[in-house]
Amino acid sequence: MSHLLQQLVTEQAERHTGQVAIVHKQERLTYGELEESSNRLARLLRDAGCRKGDRVCFLIPKTPAAIVTILGILKADCVYVPLDTSSPAPRLEKIIDACEPRFVIAGGPVNSVLDELMAEERRRTAVAIGWMGEGKVEGNNFKTGFSREDLLGYPSAPLECRNTFNDAAHILFTSGSTGVPKGVVITHANVIHFINWAVKYFGAKPSDKISSHPPLHFDLSTFDIYGTLGSGAQLHIVPTDLNLAPHKLAEFIRASELTQWFSVPSVLNFMAKADVVKFNDFPSLERLLWCGEVFPTPPLIHWMRRLPHVKFTNLYGPTEATIASSYYTVPQCPDDERAQIPIGSPCDGEELLVLDAELKPTPPGEIGDLYLSGVGLSPGYWRDIEKTEAAFKQRPGNSVSDGRIYKTGDLAKIGDDGLVYYLGRADTQIKSRGYRIELGEIETALNALNLTEECAIVAINTEGFEGVAICCAFAPLKDCEVAPAKLRTEMSKVLPNYMMPVRWKRFDLLPKNANGKIDRNSLKGQFQQETHNAGLRQNG
Ligand code: AMP
Repeated sequence: MSHLLQQLVTEQAERHTGQVAIVHKQERLTYGELEESSNRLARLLRDAGCRKGDRVCFLIPKTPAAIVTILGILKADCVYVPLDTSSPAPRLEKIIDACEPRFVIAGGPVNSVLDELMAEERRRTAVAIGWMGEGKVEGNNFKTGFSREDLLGYPSAPLECRNTFNDAAHILFTSGSTGVPKGVVITHANVIHFINWAVKYFGAKPSDKISSHPPLHFDLSTFDIYGTLGSGAQLHIVPTDLNLAPHKLAEFIRASELTQWFSVPSVLNFMAKADVVKFNDFPSLERLLWCGEVFPTPPLIHWMRRLPHVKFTNLYGPTEATIASSYYTVPQCPDDERAQIPIGSPCDGEELLVLDAELKPTPPGEIGDLYLSGVGLSPGYWRDIEKTEAAFKQRPGNSVSDGRIYKTGDLAKIGDDGLVYYLGRADTQIKSRGYRIELGEIETALNALNLTEECAIVAINTEGFEGVAICCAFAPLKDCEVAPAKLRTEMSKVLPNYMMPVRWKRFDLLPKNANGKIDRNSLKGQFQQETHNAGLRQNG
């Protein structure tokens, strides 16, 4: 059994070096090529001064070069940090400054962001740039320390790794309610435990063709990558431009003859609404998995009726517990659209606990806070003891794991069938198009503009692809007439597109509740009413 993530590819390369490992558009990389290129990168990084535990960020679109980079960083005994290539520079700056990397490895059309990131002298002197794209690229504010061609000067032979099972493999930054993204530290052990369970449970094999849909800064992508490498299968990277065209996504599954599809439900919902899946479509597809948010039962029924030969599995879990903690394979197509699909039972080595305020188990059927325990639990947030202690607590009594439990912020109950049911969030974290967003992060960005007297960001459920709509209520500063367009332009300089409010409402003063706090329920009601009225107008 492999103990380190990078060993998964080394083992496959020893077994069948010529087998295709990664497919992206016209590009194909074999296990042998993946192994050799990542060995070269690891040697180069070590030569350039990277030491065990050093962080290396990468800013590369999801391509074979990005996977080589990930493996090279791990083989250099370092910790990789994926940077979202579609995120504005100020948000990436916070991540880079928090993890103090030795290198930022870049590639693809990211020059202008890189130039912005390196505009600050302090950052430029602390961080070197490596280039994994074509040619050697330099901007006004950065010079590349190494380029892809330089790799060829390094031997491709395997190198001895000094990192161990319980060392950090990567840090994934998620939305933080105070406006600063939180870095979740994930160890090799965290991922390997999940992959071992998943490869066995789903029966993954070398002939599998596995989709790679979620972005690299989202933990779901690690299941695709390491699940593929662990089973010697082929990883088919879904080109990001297909996301806007559901019929093209369907064509991609068909033409690539995928055996496994894994994505957030929003994508499946989008495809169902566009009606792009035919009866008995995708004959090669064996399983379809989703995670990250609720997959509403009506589109699930749509998919299950169209694809009776496919196994459908709901996976549940936050980044802090590594990919997924529980699973539920839907035994047959539900006949009632109101049927609730459970998040199911724990994966091997995991535990789901529904507890009350005193951390005592709630009786079956009663709502409580969902806590997780077990082999997937992250050691905590990067250099943030306070947040780590608030979310990861010591469990009263005995436990199968090291006694730590993680408070997910989700509400749940245990059903009569003994399965766990997800009942929503206890806080203001939301999922929009599968992205995890703290409404507080948007509010902080808006407040920082100093254009509003007060503002509130709320989310409402919609019928649309985004699942929930982010709504902004604002009262402009006195004598300062700001239009939503102005706010949107300013906010888009610091927040990624998926965090941008889609509904706006101007107030002289925001409504308040009896305690004098902004009445978010009233705001939600007003946005909901407007959505309802707009629907009526459209239909009438
Ligand atoms: P993330 O860290 O982005 O994976 O987000 C974790 C959160 O997504 C969880 O705490 C849940 O609120 C939600 N989530 C994840 N999987 C599911 C699922 N299968 N059903 C419902 N909500 C989910």
